[in-house]
Amino acid sequence: MNCLMNLKSDYMHINLKYLGFVALISMSFSACAQKSSINDQSIATTATMDTFEIKKTDDEWRKQLSPVQFNILREKGTERAYTGEYDKFYEEGTYYCAACGTELFTSKTKYNSGCGWPAFYEPSTNKNIVEKKDVSHGMVRVEVMCAKCGGHLGHVFEDGPKPTGLRYCINSGSLKFEEGKKKE
Ligand code: FE
Repeated sequence: MNCLMNLKSDYMHINLKYLGFVALISMSFSACAQKSSINDQSIATTATMDTFEIKKTDDEWRKQLSPVQFNILREKGTERAYTGEYDKFYEEGTYYCAACGTELFTSKTKYNSGCGWPAFYEPSTNKNIVEKKDVSHGMVRVEVMCAKCGGHLGHVFEDGPKPTGLRYCINSGSLKFEEGKKKE
């Protein structure tokens, strides 16, 4: 009887070990699946978090940017709605990254979304931005970053006007506007 119980206990022990192993493997696969689905959300270009051309330390960025710009671009902060310099601003010109000067948007695609931040229905060129799934603050959103320096710009939503149906909701503090037609 004792022998039978020992056998049963050994069997259960092995079984539990096996189940633990299977659970570990499943978790690894699930983590991989999650990772790849995040990567699938990256719409733009060849740039990833590790391959931004411009790499600077926080101290270097702090010297170059204002506290507000640093908070938005490097700490993924958000300016208060309706307070940004370019929220209700419709001059003709080009918007560049406030950190590295990369061209990001033009006034041609800017529109009044009423959301409290500058809104564009399209970037100047997809290769200058990176879009990445963002699950912070209990929401699932798509973050928009500068492809050259990795600076946080804002988020893109699928409730924009034609022709793209997209709304790039961008912090004024991440942008630098230059008036006039773009130099070709
Ligand atoms: Fe940049």
